[in-house]
Amino acid sequence: MNVAFKRTLRPVVQLEEAIEVGMNEQRTIINDPEGLVYKLTEFLDGSRTNEEVAIQLGITEEEVNEAIGALDGLGFLESAEVPGSFLASELERYEANLNYYSSYSNLSKSKYEYQGSLKDAKVAVIGLGGGCLTTAYFAGLGVGEIRGVDFDTISRSNLNRQFIFNEEDVGRLKSEVAQEKVEKINPDVKVQMYNREITSHHDLLDIIDGCDIVVSMIDTPAIVANRWVNAACYIKGIPFYQGGFLNKIVMWERLDPASGSCYDCRLINGLAEEDSEESRLKAVYNKVFSRRNTGFAPHVSMLTGFFTSEVVKHLTGYAELAKPYSQLNTETMELNKSDFEFTRVPTCPTCSQDHIEEISTLDELIECANEMRVVHG
Ligand SMILES: [Zn+2]
Repeated sequence: MNVAFKRTLRPVVQLEEAIEVGMNEQRTIINDPEGLVYKLTEFLDGSRTNEEVAIQLGITEEEVNEAIGALDGLGFLESAEVPGSFLASELERYEANLNYYSSYSNLSKSKYEYQGSLKDAKVAVIGLGGGCLTTAYFAGLGVGEIRGVDFDTISRSNLNRQFIFNEEDVGRLKSEVAQEKVEKINPDVKVQMYNREITSHHDLLDIIDGCDIVVSMIDTPAIVANRWVNAACYIKGIPFYQGGFLNKIVMWERLDPASGSCYDCRLINGLAEEDSEESRLKAVYNKVFSRRNTGFAPHVSMLTGFFTSEVVKHLTGYAELAKPYSQLNTETMELNKSDFEFTRVPTCPTCSQDHIEEISTLDELIECANEMRVVHG
């Protein structure tokens, strides 16, 4: 394996008796009185074996190996080997992705492995209005299989933010146009868009089957739609992200109902904690609010960016996931993250069941909350 000093860390700055790698707060200074380390970083361009580098530097191969070990420890090196599983067109398409993963690679973990994990991944996007940019991002990133579902047609009022749709698409099915556009973004990924109205969790089961992650952008009927996604993801054992806007606030969260983080448990916790929550839920539950969408393109893009950035971490493991709940105030750009802790409800009508024919009613959730209050006093 030929070793390469990471391209993304160049240029190395040569100072008096030292070199400087990286910029700003990421800067590392290495003592280099004879300029040998500087030369080593120049020679390690991936074209030479360690033996050749040793000869050119006039030092022993052991000394080169030792220096390589130290530089790898600092995260400055990667393998110059390009795996044969990538086509030339893919290497070109994903060049910037690979450069990005380079920060997280070293001699034992290749940047290509991260891109390979995306290629092997399957994701589903529920709702192709709010989720249309998400599908485009996934295609650009190179996620191997992208599924999506919507039953709506494109209206002119979508065009302020749903940028895979154009004026000429108005009146056409979102699923159909998304299929065409997302395939055009990246013909190497498999795209499967469904034209289907979601009326229960059953409608989602085949769509999300086998997916690594689900991103939900359906918001109607209020609360109930989230509960359908939650129930379907619980049955299939898939974590999901959901998010939305409330004027200047952009919020998103990660739930994993099969692993103790269930949306219905959270609703029950909320009901048990605060008396007023019942009235709040009843005001919106199962309702469809028309013409009050505050989807403002920059904020939709931010939400999409946050979602997809987290999903990529989830799929590749290149970095730790952020906390499961985040709120961004777009006026101040202040980001609040929280663990959003709540207890799993042992009597939860969703995540305590082996089989869910229909999701429970709101009254049943309220009942669970009342029982919880009795138990906890
Ligand atoms: Zn639950």
